[in-house]
Formats: sequence, C-alpha cells, structure tokens
Amino acid sequence: MKVLKGRLIDCTGAAPIEAGAVAIDKNKICYAGEAAGLPAEYSKAEVLEIRDGTILPGLIEGHVHMSWGGANSIHWIDYTPQLEMARALRDLQFLRSEGYTAVRDMGSGCVFLKECVREGLLDLPRLFAAGRILTQIGGHGDAYQKLTLEASEKVYGPAFIVTGVDEVRRAIRTNFRNGADFVKIMTTGGVFSQGDKACETCHFSREEIRAAVEEAENQGTYVSSHAQANKGIRTALENGVCCIEHGFYLDEYCIELMLKNDCYLVPTLSIMHTSKVFNESNPHVLPELKEKTLRSYEAHYRSLDLAHKAGVKIGMGCDFVNDPALGCTYDRANMEFERMEAAGFAPMEILQAATKTNAELLLMADRIGTLEAGKLADVILVQGNPLNDIRLMCDADNIKLVIQDGRIVKDITAQAD
Ligand SMILES: [Zn+2]
Repeated sequence: MKVLKGRLIDCTGAAPIEAGAVAIDKNKICYAGEAAGLPAEYSKAEVLEIRDGTILPGLIEGHVHMSWGGANSIHWIDYTPQLEMARALRDLQFLRSEGYTAVRDMGSGCVFLKECVREGLLDLPRLFAAGRILTQIGGHGDAYQKLTLEASEKVYGPAFIVTGVDEVRRAIRTNFRNGADFVKIMTTGGVFSQGDKACETCHFSREEIRAAVEEAENQGTYVSSHAQANKGIRTALENGVCCIEHGFYLDEYCIELMLKNDCYLVPTLSIMHTSKVFNESNPHVLPELKEKTLRSYEAHYRSLDLAHKAGVKIGMGCDFVNDPALGCTYDRANMEFERMEAAGFAPMEILQAATKTNAELLLMADRIGTLEAGKLADVILVQGNPLNDIRLMCDADNIKLVIQDGRIVKDITAQAD
C-alpha cells in the first residue's frame, strides 16, 4: 500500500486540490481526494511526496508509430523485424520515462510486443495497437512509389496495400488475428508521401470504408482514419469512421458530422512542427514538399481551432516516427504539450486530452485516464504546477515518479527540488 501526497489534478474535470492524496492498494486506486480525508487505514502506508509536487493520471500517447523507422520510407529496405522491435522497445522506455503509462500505436509492427507483455517477457506501457494500416494503391502507405507495387508492399512494413472490399476485410481480419485492438485506414494522402496530394484527395471507396467499419464493429472496436484533405475526411465521417487523425482541412460540415456522430479528432502538431523547422533549415528538401508541409501546417492550426471552439472531443498525439534528422525522436514526445498550448488550449484541457480523452480512444475510460477510486493505479508525480506552466510537462526530468498498474516504474524523487 502506498500514498502519494501533493497537488491533485484528477483530470475528471474537477478543480485541483492543493493538499491532495492518492492511495494505492496493489494495482488499484482506493482513494483520491483531500489529504485530510484520507481514511485512517492508510496512516501506516508508505508516503511518496516531493516539494511542490503534482499528482496526475499516467499520461497516454494518442498517436505514435513505435517501430516505423523514420519519415523517409526507403529506410524500410534496410530494416529487419529484429531491429524494428529493438527500436520500439527503446522508444517505449523513453515514453514511460516521460510519464506515459499507455500508448496508442497508429500503425507499425509493434502489435507483436503485446504478446511479449502478456507472457511477462517485457515490462512496457499499456499498448493499444492498430497493427498494419490499410492504404490504397498509391496512397500514403504505398509510400515509395518508385519501387514496383510488389516491392513496395514487401519493404514498407507498416501498411497493407489493398483494393476492394474483400481485401479490406482480409487485411483487417489478419490484423485482429495478430492482436490488433482497432482499425486504422488512410482515406487521404499525406505530407511525407511524395506521390499523392495530401490536400485534395479521397482514398478508398465508400464501400471499402463501410466494410472496414463493419469489420471493426463486429470485433467491438472502431475505425480511425488518417485523414488530412477535406474530401477524405468527409467520406470517412459519412461512412462510419469515428476518429480523425490529423484533420488538416476540416470545415463546418465536417465539424457538424463529428459532433452529431460523437467523433474524435487527434491533432498531431509536433510532427508538423518538427517537419516545418527541418524544411526551413534544409536546402535539399524538394520545393513541392516544402510547400505541401507549410500549407498543411497552417491548415492544421486553423482546423484545430474550429474543432476546439465547436466542442469536438480532442485527443493528443505527437505522431513521431523516430527520425533523428527530423528531430521527431521519442525522447522529445512531450513537445505536444507546448504545441497544444500554442494552438490555444488551456493547461487543464491539454492535461485532460493526454489522459481522460486518450483513455476513451483506448476504449479504457472505465479503467485509466482519471484518478478515481476503483481505477487502475497509473499515476505520475510531477515537479511544479503544470496549470501555471504546461511546459513543465515537456521535460522528463520533471516527471519524478511513474506508477503503472500499482508498480513504481520510474522514481527520481530523490532528485526533486
Ligand atoms: Zn501517424
């Protein structure tokens, strides 16, 4: 039994409690509230606290690719599954040291790590994984189009390149067979894929999207779409997709549909920010790629503002792909906190996006994402008050204690101020 004491932000939407406490028994939270109200039975429990510490739910990363290998898809040719897995393990460890006790993988080979966790071979953040992404021929996941189609399918690990309803169903059932938790499709092009027009396209037919939704719903889960262009966002939303990743070109109609159908938006500001910074300082980037990135960057902030003001449910994810050249490595994943602030979100909204809302996207809102009695004990202790300065969350050195499922998985409280 342990008790954490400090400023309590439970992320339910309640006001912070300055002198708060969270009591943990085995892997469950058994009390969260005023320290003065702590039941007497916890008086002998080990107390964990730091000066000016804030207790928060374990963070949840809402959009990452744990074994992707960089924005330049040609890297895949050099990859082995063993190398991918080693990188994914290292990066998951980075994420946990930054306070992430759960991760939503939006397409990579890391779905296989879930089996290793189940067998007790590895100790990792909770993994909620899409398996391989579904893309159409010439789509964002068919990213290296100078290769033959057969070679592209072979070397580009994170995607199934599919055509027609039957192939869509087959790919999804294969993903579920491998342990996937939900479905990720790509209904538009993307910024990094040179062969498509991210800003104008719609990929997949209505029938293919509806088949994906049916397959997901048959397994009690949902479809999320990589959707940047307006046409692909609309078509996805009109055909049952309930989460939009990126969402660069939302309009009033899309927002209305999202509200009506209770859909989520996961903005991915950090990857756009690192790409923009990289392009500005790199003379070798193709002019058309520079232009596409800048246009998408500006549209992303405009759309997010529209969705935010309208009250769309908004999660949070950095969309990093472990590319040192771009600066999107997982030791910098917490950059999304300051990017969200730059997009006009209040600190409490950002904290809730990274916990409560992302837990909903993991279909785990009844178990994680807020600090309430009866929930699983995924808890962190942060130095300082993130409501006064959200950038505190961007530095892993401020994340002094990480508890996952009741176990201490990081403890640098001795280094607290
Ligand atoms: Zn992504």
